[in-house]
Amino acid sequence: MNIINEMTLKFKAVSENEAFARSCVAAFCVQLNPTLDEITDIKTAVSEAVTNCVVHAYPKNEGEVILNVKLTNDTAIISVSDNGIGISNFEKARQPFFTTKPNEERSGMGFTVMESFMDKVYLLKNKEKGVTVLMEKKFGEAERKIIGG
Ligand code: ATP
Ligand code: MG
Repeated sequence: MNIINEMTLKFKAVSENEAFARSCVAAFCVQLNPTLDEITDIKTAVSEAVTNCVVHAYPKNEGEVILNVKLTNDTAIISVSDNGIGISNFEKARQPFFTTKPNEERSGMGFTVMESFMDKVYLLKNKEKGVTVLMEKKFGEAERKIIGG
């Protein structure tokens, strides 16, 4: 896989940065000429991943989110990482409607949304602390699907 461009952002895990993060990723991905739908998909997925860091990763202390985007000539590879409390059961966390915060208007659909808008979603345990959500989206798939029948 040939990485033609890359960027990393580090920011405080506060809700003000959810919109900031998704806009940055969208602006960075524009160089691959994605469709508006593809950009919307990526923004939605990034938003869910960053929101999870804000809402779940740091219940006691303030923490950071590290967001990295790598581009090949047709694919965005996005990682959203925190150094927070981590997830004890990945399988459970990914299930639709599973949430550990049912009283805070959480519906437990974040990972399901990421999975439906991105081609691949991996959940990784960080070496020290916290989790990394690694997501991939290939641009131009919709067009190819239509042309290919
Ligand atoms: P929604 O995203 O619909 O508002 P939610 O955030 O609870 O609700 P998911 O995004 O699917 O649902 O996450 C499922 C569960 O995984 C969360 O309730 C939380 O327990 C855990 N989780 C997700 N991301 C993190 C994280 N970065 N750190 C710690 N726990 C997390
Ligand atoms: Mg969520």
